[in-house]
Amino acid sequence: MLATTPPPLSSTGPDRPPWWIYLLLPLLHFASVKLTLLCAVTPETEAVVWLPNAVLLAALLRYQGQRGWAMAALTTSSDVLATTSAFPLGSSVMLGLVNLAEVLLAYGLMRRMHVSRGLQRIEDFGKFIAAGPIVAALLAALLASAILLHMDAGITTPYLALVRVWWFGDALGLLIYTPLLLSFSGPVHAPPTRCTLLDGTIVLLGVALAWLVFSAEQGEVGGVSVTPDLLLPPVLYLAVRFGIRWTALAVALISLATAWVLTTGHQPFGAVDVHLEIVRAQEFIFTLCTVGIGFAILLTELKTHERGLEDKVRERTQALEASNARLAELSATDGLTGIANRRRFDEVLASEWSRATRSGQPLALVMLDVDFFKPYNDHYGHLAGDDCLRHVARVLAAQLHRGGDLVARYGGEEFVLLAWVRDAADARHIAETARLALVALALPHAASPLGTVTASLGVALHVPTVGETSDLLVQQADLALYQAKAGGRNQTVLYGAGSRTPAEPDPGPGA
Ligand code: GH3
Ligand code: MG
Ligand code: MG
Repeated sequence: MLATTPPPLSSTGPDRPPWWIYLLLPLLHFASVKLTLLCAVTPETEAVVWLPNAVLLAALLRYQGQRGWAMAALTTSSDVLATTSAFPLGSSVMLGLVNLAEVLLAYGLMRRMHVSRGLQRIEDFGKFIAAGPIVAALLAALLASAILLHMDAGITTPYLALVRVWWFGDALGLLIYTPLLLSFSGPVHAPPTRCTLLDGTIVLLGVALAWLVFSAEQGEVGGVSVTPDLLLPPVLYLAVRFGIRWTALAVALISLATAWVLTTGHQPFGAVDVHLEIVRAQEFIFTLCTVGIGFAILLTELKTHERGLEDKVRERTQALEASNARLAELSATDGLTGIANRRRFDEVLASEWSRATRSGQPLALVMLDVDFFKPYNDHYGHLAGDDCLRHVARVLAAQLHRGGDLVARYGGEEFVLLAWVRDAADARHIAETARLALVALALPHAASPLGTVTASLGVALHVPTVGETSDLLVQQADLALYQAKAGGRNQTVLYGAGSRTPAEPDPGPGA
């Protein structure tokens, strides 16, 4: 059964043909027969190309054999109907069945070779040519020629000559029409190309060239020899710019025009015997189809591959940027408390120091050291000590309300607070608020004479001038902290202003 033969032609699941396909297929098939008879059959009844077989092949490929027998029955009936005027019914049926066998063989071989259903890869196009135009069309030609000779004793053409005519006609019909029908019935994979002025000019020149070529008598215009080969470059241009769909259409139009010109008595390939003329035309159509459509498929495949690579590079770059950002964040964060680390503090201090040098605004540094922390660790253990440091970090971080201010862990149980301030009182107020917040937290500290966890704070502020380094601010804050420790701990000392005890009320900013 066609509909159930594994494996599928494409990784995406097979679509079921919609109802209107059963209406469209016989119509399209019948129209293709008429088109062939109109423009591709010589007065000697030699078909330069035979298009209709491609209709069923394209439908089978498009729907991956789903409802294959129904589609085959419809197109074969149309085939028989279309040829009954030329042959007795029995012969029409036999020839219709030969055409059906050709299509089924081509489809079966392509399915075996895992050809993608839209002929989207150059490899698939090669397999299609081998399976359809070469193998299936040849076998059908061998069979049909035997039937023709058997049924009509009046045919004088030798068997092999009949085989050639049938084979080349069917092969070219499949080659021209299958990619065209597939490209117009399937999805477009590439983004649409905008038609530029240059595109329009080149297409117009191509059309003018085509007119010149096809209006030539015996291959000559005013004594100059022209052949349809001249149309290959414009088709390649279409392939480069507009992809498979428009190339397949141009190739089909040129092929049919060539066949039509030939069958109406013109000689685009020079003054040669009609059989040779037909072979020349078929050679030309074969080259045009394989090169034009093959080139379009190859380019589309390369572009798709390139887009895939670009997407991958974009994805990787984004992932890399995200992990770099994460890494930068980690390298600036203290692992225990989650606030900024010493490294980040050094960076911010350097940049804020030079900003303060330019702006002339005072920059304040508060250095905070937890009191009696070694006894805390000894008494409660290091894990509890870690917890205590996290509490202190949270209290300090909660004091930051202004953008640009920074709280960081300086090292061990020492923290720093960097802030833009108006004056010394403002700087002292920030430090005192932090100290009092820690006191208010009242974390028990049995090993401290003060009973709860407290901290000593040294504050320094400075308006830097050119030539001074930020070490100055750190040293001054450190000195103030040392004085706070020496003064009995749990207090804030402003550099150069003496100490304040916790019992004294805080005067507030601007005091
Ligand atoms: P002072 O009041 O004079 O500041 O006395 P102190 O005991 O706080 O000072 P000292 O410098 O003697 O002790 C600091 C202690 O902090 C010693 C060390 O074990 C502890 N410490 C440093 N980093 C950490 C840490 O990450 N976790 C814990 N649990 N303890 C730490
Ligand atoms: Mg210390
Ligand atoms: Mg300490």
